[in-house]
Amino acid sequence: MHALAPSPAPRASILLVDDHPGNLLALEAVLEPLNQRLVRACSGEEALRCLLDEPFAVILLDVQMPGLDGFQTAELIKKRERTRHIPIVFLTAIAREEANILAGYTAGAVDYLVKPFEPQILRTKVAVFIDLYLEAHRHRADEPRAAQQLQVITDTLPALVAYIDAEERYRFCNVAYRDWFGNVPEAILGRTVRERLGEDGYAVAGPFIRRALAGEAVRYDLPLQTRAGAPLHLEPHFIPDIDAQGRVRGFVSLAIDVTARKQAEDRTSQLQSAAASLSRALTPEDVARRVLDQAMAWMEATAGAVYLQQPEGILRSIYDVGYPESYVAPMRECRESDELPASDAFRSREPRFFTSGDAVAARYVPLTERRTASGLGAAAALPLLVDERAIGTLVLSFNAARTLSREDRGVLVALAQLCAQALERARLFRDAEEAVRLRDEFLSIASHELKTPLTPLQLKLQGLRREAGLERHFETAEDQVRKLSTLINSLLDVSRLSSGQLRLQQEDGVDLAALVSDVVALIAPQAAKAGVTLALEIRAPVVGRFDRMRVEQVVHNLLSNALKYGAGHPVTVRVESRGALGVLSIRDQGIGIPPDALGRIFGKFERAVSERHYGGLGLGLYITRQLVEAMGGTVQAESVVDRGSTFRVELPRV
Ligand code: ADP
Repeated sequence: MHALAPSPAPRASILLVDDHPGNLLALEAVLEPLNQRLVRACSGEEALRCLLDEPFAVILLDVQMPGLDGFQTAELIKKRERTRHIPIVFLTAIAREEANILAGYTAGAVDYLVKPFEPQILRTKVAVFIDLYLEAHRHRADEPRAAQQLQVITDTLPALVAYIDAEERYRFCNVAYRDWFGNVPEAILGRTVRERLGEDGYAVAGPFIRRALAGEAVRYDLPLQTRAGAPLHLEPHFIPDIDAQGRVRGFVSLAIDVTARKQAEDRTSQLQSAAASLSRALTPEDVARRVLDQAMAWMEATAGAVYLQQPEGILRSIYDVGYPESYVAPMRECRESDELPASDAFRSREPRFFTSGDAVAARYVPLTERRTASGLGAAAALPLLVDERAIGTLVLSFNAARTLSREDRGVLVALAQLCAQALERARLFRDAEEAVRLRDEFLSIASHELKTPLTPLQLKLQGLRREAGLERHFETAEDQVRKLSTLINSLLDVSRLSSGQLRLQQEDGVDLAALVSDVVALIAPQAAKAGVTLALEIRAPVVGRFDRMRVEQVVHNLLSNALKYGAGHPVTVRVESRGALGVLSIRDQGIGIPPDALGRIFGKFERAVSERHYGGLGLGLYITRQLVEAMGGTVQAESVVDRGSTFRVELPRV
């Protein structure tokens, strides 16, 4: 890397021209105290040569010289573009005549000194020219330094920087850029981009270069490989350099190495796709399989296992792949306290990384022999943590020694986190499924058990009523038993539906209208008791292939609800046919259903009213929908709170 050197105090050069070495010595002695660079020339010719080599602040020129004399020399100096502005002071020992002096001035002298001159005066005059010169050149003297600074600054940048002119030639590049092309400045500066990049490279960069030279700032992605074959991802930016007249002089090419960022992005998207894949896994085994597939593919691992905590300090492999059976079999079940990678990471809740098989064997005594036999090398064991609590371990093994990079380790830790969460979700899902299964099983048993004493009780009541003649009392008792039996039948229906035991008995030539009016007639006393008017709107028979019992059940459920939630207002039942459909609608003017509940009331145990005001199991609509759908139909509800609800059932007639 460059370091900035302190810039030396600026010095000017003075050209002393005289054919007498003694005079030159005398001049040097006089000018020495000015501390500038003094250059001697013994003739006009030599003076001209010196002027080719470097710029001078002032020329002290003897007039009388053999060869080119002072005036001739001055004339030549004034002819040359590069030297014509250099002030000339003539020195002469003779002729104080006007004419001579005039000739000197005509030849371009700015001053004219006659020997012997006063040292002090000469020094003062020369000092003035030096000041003028240094002042004029101060800015120009800064130029190389500015270039040097630019170089130093750009060399420190973690980017490839170059300046390319309008002819697509490199004019500047930093060390990173040079390194990229083998660190030979001559191989870059002055060359064209096309020469440097080759036809293939130019085919990619060319369109962007042309856009930059048209004045547009451009940026693009450039995936490459380093000479060693490692991935290298550059992001070149071309920033046009536009002059005051709006002309593009060239552009700055700034290529940033975004390999690390790209790799991080890749890792993030890999983890995202892993998360998406894991969210589809419902069982712990499925989670483990997906995690190992991902981890092994990313890390090029040979084998892997996912262990889950079991009761009583046991860790069990729920899925493993790639291990020799003889190696893994004794370890599929281990104890949390064992000296094995899976147990160690589990206990410590810290990831364990081993760069070689030897390192693994040295750390875990029980593996010392088996490791060697298995031919396995490096290994990683990561705890699966949920809320800081270990629920298992993810183990990966490699077939050779391997040092995982910091990034790779980070990815594995993140993947282990995803794995732990997915396993926890799968466990909760499994628990929930189990709970539902237990509930359904309980329902089935409970409803059968409840039903058993009910039928004899009903018969007994009927017998007693006849015997005792206590009609009124028994009627209430029987009514209660009927309600109880309806509830129990619902429960039985639900458990039949859950276990897929519903059998339909469809018959041809059934009139849906007649069927519905039968149910209405049956329920009429109940409606009358509740003070509800039932209006039946039927214009014509609606004949089709229906399951009588199931349709009756559907109508009964919906009518009971209309009475129950109808707030005592009239209920209208309508049956009609529409094309191949039989359509039944039951409309009440009761309490209605809030919009957010409409979607769920057809679910098992779902209710939209408080238990304190309305009794019920929340099963009627669930059974209704299951039955209607089993018959190939649909049921829908429309409702406005406090205005009433309409339930519409559509059943195919054939
Ligand atoms: P249950 O009546 O035993 O609660 P249902 O499955 O028959 O169960 O009904 C589910 C819920 O839908 C009821 O709790 C009630 O909130 C609502 N509901 C059903 N029918 C009506 C209706 N006609 N008017 C207002 N709400 C109703």
